[in-house]
Amino acid sequence: HDIPGLGGDFQPAELSHNAKVVIERRIAKRNEQGDAVETPDEVFRRVARNLAEAELRFGGTEQDRAAAEESFYRLMASLDFLPNSPTLVNAGRELQQLSACFVLPVPDSIEGIFEAIKQTAIIHKSGGGTGFSFSRLRPANAKVKTTMGVASGPVSFMKVFDAATEAIKQGGTRRGANMGILRVDHPDIDEFIEMKADMTTLTNFNISVAVTEAFMKALEAGTTYDIIDPQTGAAVAKRDAREVWEKMVRNAWKNGDPGVIFIDRINASRANPVPKRGPVESTNPCGEQPLYPHDSCNLGSINLKHFTKGEPGAKTVDFERLRTTVWRAVHLLDNVIEMNQYPIPEIAEVSHAIRRIGLGVMGWADMLIDLRIPYNSEEALRLAREVMSFIQKEADAASEQLARVRGNFPDWADSIYGPKGPEGPRPMRNATRTTIAPTGTLSIIANCSGGIEPVFALAFIRSHYLDKNDPTKRTELTEVNEQFEAVAKAEGFYSEELMRFLAEGGHLSERPEVPKWVKDVFVTAHEISPEWHVRMQAAFQEFTDNAVSKTINFPNSATVDDVRISYELAYRTGCKGITIYRDGSREFQVLKHAEKS
Ligand code: UDP
Repeated sequence: HDIPGLGGDFQPAELSHNAKVVIERRIAKRNEQGDAVETPDEVFRRVARNLAEAELRFGGTEQDRAAAEESFYRLMASLDFLPNSPTLVNAGRELQQLSACFVLPVPDSIEGIFEAIKQTAIIHKSGGGTGFSFSRLRPANAKVKTTMGVASGPVSFMKVFDAATEAIKQGGTRRGANMGILRVDHPDIDEFIEMKADMTTLTNFNISVAVTEAFMKALEAGTTYDIIDPQTGAAVAKRDAREVWEKMVRNAWKNGDPGVIFIDRINASRANPVPKRGPVESTNPCGEQPLYPHDSCNLGSINLKHFTKGEPGAKTVDFERLRTTVWRAVHLLDNVIEMNQYPIPEIAEVSHAIRRIGLGVMGWADMLIDLRIPYNSEEALRLAREVMSFIQKEADAASEQLARVRGNFPDWADSIYGPKGPEGPRPMRNATRTTIAPTGTLSIIANCSGGIEPVFALAFIRSHYLDKNDPTKRTELTEVNEQFEAVAKAEGFYSEELMRFLAEGGHLSERPEVPKWVKDVFVTAHEISPEWHVRMQAAFQEFTDNAVSKTINFPNSATVDDVRISYELAYRTGCKGITIYRDGSREFQVLKHAEKS
């Protein structure tokens, strides 16, 4: 129970203006007038105190509890690490629903479908996102025995899930986000692929096709693959793999959907640690978390921006501090599982049996900038592997150590870590340890770049509202990336005019006064080719148990072929899935996937 890093005086990190606004509006307790009644520091204290209570349930003393509380408080208040926002919002409050995401099974019966919709409503109300596979549903026009009528099929039922989500909208904090999956060998695959072509339907869903190994083989060979009746398991037709792939790629080019998940690869990986609970049929809404039916995941992210040391221009990664932080974060997330009030009993059962956690990173692009490494470089890929393999190894070791004190996760004997498993026997407290989340809210609070995404813009114009009841009273301010501003000043090329130029969409590459190394290091999302985006995702995936949230950005001028090449590269480089976005291809441009969902 010795917790390192707790000596000396502690200074909480200073919060940015945007961080304070986000905490006030989306995280803190509010009174009936809607005003925050907690300071950010009180939020971190509330969460730390609540999560530390788990120590007593594991036989710890009051001293252990107090030490854990202080450890957790410092992790968060330093902005070195944050648990997913439902934990920040709900820990120590009435709801106590701490997970970001869930997957619910959708059985092939009216009772089952509407039970899943009811469970979805309960989850959305509490701030969680949901993923579903619709692959078990019989296709449209199949027979319905009890009525002698015909079935409506997965696509039409998905619209009912969407309408239910629309009606709930989660009381203001988070919008209900859904992932809808269909297997590529389902008879209704064409309707599914096309279903978001009209951007007014299914606005509360991301959709992805679950692509099988058999399909990928057929695609490579240019042959057909079997379409399978979900009720009987029999092959009922053959389809040309390239034709179906072309349709997927063309629709993704048009407006981003569908994405793809490589379902057999997911099931053959560490994301499927207890095969008897599976197979995994779906991921959560942003794709980073494959889950069993009725599974949940508690995520948390380390802010890599804080893990460099040395003089500007000669910095290195602070692996020692990173190690301590990983250990403390795994401890905190294991406590989240214990303190969580799961929305339905089936989810509580699975979550306790496997104790799945997802520790990941944010601020990766900021770390690279600090180290003066361009995002689109071999050096960045090498460092990605070094940092993530380090985190994975330490998270495994931390979970193993917790298992020695608190016991293995209950399904351990049947898991890949058990006596007969390919990775066992190895003590393990948590069936998975690592996931890379989008960190949509967390990265604003920590004032860092999101997940492993590159910096989106070096400067932008933000409207500041001066009177919350009157939207016409506002000023527009140019906000500049903090690291860029510091370098611009140190290198002597800072000017108001340059910042405005960048905020209005100008590129650094067009400016002769800016040194070449600065142009290389401050590369932004749209200047990075899709190939580098995919290779970065693959580098992190190699050392992540679950999956990696990443949006592969394309310029508006990208062709359907460009998209096809990226989808195939994602497969070849070992990614578990891929989501793309072509600039300007949706009516309302979103900054990134996370903000859409
Ligand atoms: N999520 C959701 N609604 C939202 C944002 C996120 O349901 O508005 C879920 C979704 O499953 C996503 C996961 O939470 O994949 C993690 O998202 P993110 O890392 O952006 O969450 P944060 O903790 O930063 O709020």
